[in-house]
Amino acid sequence: MNRTSYTGVAMNCLFCRILQGEIPSQPVYSDDLCYGFADIQPQAPTHLLLIPRRHIRSLAETSAEDASLLGHLMTKAAEIARQQNLSGGYRVVVNTGENGGQTVEHLHLHLLGGRAMHWPPG
Ligand code: AMP
Ligand code: ZN
Repeated sequence: MNRTSYTGVAMNCLFCRILQGEIPSQPVYSDDLCYGFADIQPQAPTHLLLIPRRHIRSLAETSAEDASLLGHLMTKAAEIARQQNLSGGYRVVVNTGENGGQTVEHLHLHLLGGRAMHWPPG
């Protein structure tokens, strides 16, 4: 179980440590609610991660109270996609839990683009 401080930061969470600047990252977007940065192991020519500044373990942990934050993340993903010139299309992915392939337990949106995506996903 993560120890979460009153600021909503989990001390042992990789993405909280990135938010604190303890681990370097390549920024692409930042505001009061969220932070966007390059994925360290890109799976497409453009592969960015967008995370809330508040530590939320996964999409499965969210409720109606988080609706505006989740909406903010989705609309920012679209804005970043426009900035990144992904006019040919892109994919936004939220891996959730073990079967969903989530490896970092801090909610994140993957923004993938720059190549054609396949369906169904693996
Ligand atoms: P997921 O598997 O959906 O939980 O996604 C976690 C993502 O975080 C993966 O795509 C990793 O490549 C990425 N990742 C892990 N460590 C870092 C890091 N230090 N900086 C940027 N991305 C990272
Ligand atoms: Zn975190």
